[in-house]
Amino acid sequence: MTAKALMRGIELRLLDRNVANRCMVFAVLSLPMCCILWGLQAYALAHPEAAAFYRPGALRLAQQGLTTLILWLTTVVVLAWQLRRHGRDARWLAHWTVTPTFVVFVLLAIGHGLKDTPMGMVLIQALVVARALFSLRTIKFTLALAVVMLVVSDLLITAGQLVYAPLLTAPVFNGEDLTWWWAVWLRIMFQAAVLPFTAMLFLAFNTLRRQRKELESLVRTDVLTGLFNRREFMNQLEIESHRHARSGRPFCLIVCDLDHFKKVNDSWGHPVGDVVLAQLGRILQSSTRDQIDTAARLGGEEFVLLLPDTDLEGARRVASKIASSLRDHVFQADGASFSVTQSIGIAEVHGGQGQQALRIADQNLYTAKRAGRDQAVASVVGVL
Ligand code: GH3
Ligand code: MG
Ligand code: MG
Repeated sequence: MTAKALMRGIELRLLDRNVANRCMVFAVLSLPMCCILWGLQAYALAHPEAAAFYRPGALRLAQQGLTTLILWLTTVVVLAWQLRRHGRDARWLAHWTVTPTFVVFVLLAIGHGLKDTPMGMVLIQALVVARALFSLRTIKFTLALAVVMLVVSDLLITAGQLVYAPLLTAPVFNGEDLTWWWAVWLRIMFQAAVLPFTAMLFLAFNTLRRQRKELESLVRTDVLTGLFNRREFMNQLEIESHRHARSGRPFCLIVCDLDHFKKVNDSWGHPVGDVVLAQLGRILQSSTRDQIDTAARLGGEEFVLLLPDTDLEGARRVASKIASSLRDHVFQADGASFSVTQSIGIAEVHGGQGQQALRIADQNLYTAKRAGRDQAVASVVGVL
């Protein structure tokens, strides 16, 4: 599996709207941190020279709390899996996943001391994961509880009612060289907090960039045909008009409108009408130059082509190719076959008058309609 596919897989899981899935992801992402802390504390419990850095009894209590949390988060994974499988509501589980995790993490952060350990970073990491997965409404109680616990502990420490880092015999760092245990503990905890956090930010920025690209493309594209929409066409027309005004090179607009399209819908149904529109979209796309011309759906069954560096003769050739491609295409519906034609208006732009050229191309289109349809009418703007 490539790194890109892995990132996409994680992203899809994070974006999954299913609450059970989100609970599962939160539990799975929180478990490694729990296990790292659990491992460090298990080592300290087994080695008196490391246990000496903790208050007697407090270390055992912290370890019991972490063991309970690890067991609970493992249960959450199983529960969420079952709820998802049976399609049951899992909203209640979100509270019961996030709150215990935060309570234990905040207690451990207070216990180790927030000012000179990476425990603050652990809390921020849990907060970012929680917020990425759940709505603010879902986690607001947990957040309020965490803030209250932190503020109260700070007030108690300031008032001298609680010692700083009550889990330890002395703060991790008091301005002197770190003792051996805290040097090891800090390194492990720092990496454990920083690396996943960095990876998460990376993922978040990647997702944002990709989603922005998708949205930008959606805003510019017509869904049915995949061509540009009216808004993007107008942008391109403006840009090309300016370029044309500077360079003086010719550019042309071709406006197409299907003939008697209402009849197609009425005879074969709207979905078949859509197939016809999509086919015309493909014909327009394949008849124009990639990255140079702009093919757009102006709306309904009206399309437009913007052809830079093309004179009226060139545009006529393109229009004739498009007209015959459409005329020759046989559509099938209800066991019968039919074909459609279009009328075309062409205008060559002069003096940077893109908007005026569009109006003239439109007028030419209606002249073609009045003249009996299935034909093209062309003129140079200003010389009509
Ligand atoms: P003319 O030859 O004069 O252009 O006649 P027409 O029937 O093509 O033109 P009219 O403007 O009377 O009808 C256009 C039809 O296009 C009516 C509308 O329902 C249909 N239409 C517009 N957008 C869509 C679409 O997205 N899908 C389908 N299937 N039909 C559409
Ligand atoms: Mg029409
Ligand atoms: Mg029309």
